[in-house]
Amino acid sequence: MERQQYEIAVIGAGPGGYVAAIKAAQEGRKVCLIERGFLGGSCLNVGCIPTKTLLANAAIYHHIARAEEFGITTGPVSFDYAKMKARKDGVLEKMRKSLEGLLLSNGLTIIRGDAEFLSPREIKVKGENSVLIVADQTIIATGSEPLNIPAFPCDHKRIFNSSSMLDQTVVPKTLAIIGGGYIGCEFASLYAELGCKVIILEALPTILMAQGKTIAETLTRAFQKKGIDVQTGVLVEGIDTVGEGLSIRLKDKSPVACDAALVSVGRKIVSSNMGLEKAGVLVDSKGAILVNDKMETNVSGIYAIGDVTGKFMLAHVASHQGIIAACNAMGQGVKMHYNAVPSVIFTMPEIATVGMTFEQAQEAGYSAAIGKFPFQALGKSVATLETEGFAQVIVDRKTGKILGAQVVGHEASTLIAEMGLAIANELTIECVSDTIHAHPTVAEAWMEAALLANDTPLHLPPKPKKG
Ligand SMILES: Cc1cc2nc3c(=O)[nH]c(=O)nc-3n(C[C@H](O)[C@H](O)[C@H](O)COP(=O)(O)OP(=O)(O)OC[C@H]3O[C@@H](n4cnc5c(N)ncnc54)[C@H](O)[C@@H]3O)c2cc1C
Repeated sequence: MERQQYEIAVIGAGPGGYVAAIKAAQEGRKVCLIERGFLGGSCLNVGCIPTKTLLANAAIYHHIARAEEFGITTGPVSFDYAKMKARKDGVLEKMRKSLEGLLLSNGLTIIRGDAEFLSPREIKVKGENSVLIVADQTIIATGSEPLNIPAFPCDHKRIFNSSSMLDQTVVPKTLAIIGGGYIGCEFASLYAELGCKVIILEALPTILMAQGKTIAETLTRAFQKKGIDVQTGVLVEGIDTVGEGLSIRLKDKSPVACDAALVSVGRKIVSSNMGLEKAGVLVDSKGAILVNDKMETNVSGIYAIGDVTGKFMLAHVASHQGIIAACNAMGQGVKMHYNAVPSVIFTMPEIATVGMTFEQAQEAGYSAAIGKFPFQALGKSVATLETEGFAQVIVDRKTGKILGAQVVGHEASTLIAEMGLAIANELTIECVSDTIHAHPTVAEAWMEAALLANDTPLHLPPKPKKG
């Protein structure tokens, strides 16, 4: 077996691993990036990018359907989902190619194959030609994959997981989505926009439980308005095939009939069968690799980043952790901070959050104020007929520091960046209200929300004076 020596080896070329590899290569280190599947990992191939590409198709369809409201007359509008899927595949192919070019331009070595530790410093890569990598430092970025539930396994013909769902070329008439987390909700939006009858079956008391009550209630209302059947507090016990369709068995409730089912009940961490025990790397009960805030595992010289650490499970968090790990592998003592992690749910309407919710701020002992501005009161939103939703900021009354922000509505995914910057840099509410925001833009909602948190609204009536 050929033996190759590197200063830094990175296992997994998702948004965590490839960013770590670029960072280390840019600093002049001899780096290899090991990948057994497609470059770009889950994010590029079965996650962020394919879902957003398909959602962009649905958004165009949605806008054309609203043409009459803008005084535009169209003929009958239809779509070909197979073509939509083909466009998605083309986007992925293009991005994979440009990623490969980017990696090579940084002078790192891409090694194709399945990595397995033989010892803390030796990694065997089983590919077309097996290679023994000897590395001074290793960054593990092996990610996650869809969780399979033995009581209702995916057959990928009618019962899908998020990956196989993305390969479909037809839209089913009825789709039951098991799991109302962000992945389930994004698929619900996609299929509902394309005319499919969607039923969400969620075991918890609300969908998007992790995002707090306000967001969960707002999206539930928006979904119900679109005709999505949101059933919460229901436990799926099994799925039976009935003729051409499916029957979803629920505990203590009548079964749900549908044509297809999407199982999106969480992600399984990819940390088994890769010799972690031979390297001495410790994992928790779910297989997540244990790391400290420098992304170091318990074994000196071995780092872990991204989904495999079980924290946040977002592409941009994986990338940021990748930079932290690479810097530490090169001897810099940097730490990961999680107080300003933006999170976006690409439903229609979009949802974006960063920092604390009002409830979390109160629980943390802050005397919190809230400034909530509805898009209905904003010129740009009225002009574009995108008045659904709101932007809200959570503020510490004592210091004026911004603790968190949530936004529901058009362009929420872009809007959240301003609050991410504000929270990461510990800015106060005055920094936002004193900043000139261009008019007419949806970003003005932050300025208005900031003013509201101070009880000095400009474009909403003032609160009635006491006494
Ligand atoms: C449907 C869906 C939508 C999503 N949408 C978003 C979104 O909009 N925004 C967002 O931030 N996040 C989103 N995510 C989550 C995001 O995809 C992940 O958080 C991100 O991909 C994690 O990056 P990673 O580098 O840790 O791992 P991954 O992207 O999972 O990459 C890990 C890589 O390691 C490789 N690998 C594993 N084991 C080995 C081995 N032994 N040897 C060699 N290679 C190996 C795998 O083949 C894979 O390519 C979404 C996920 C899904 C499923």
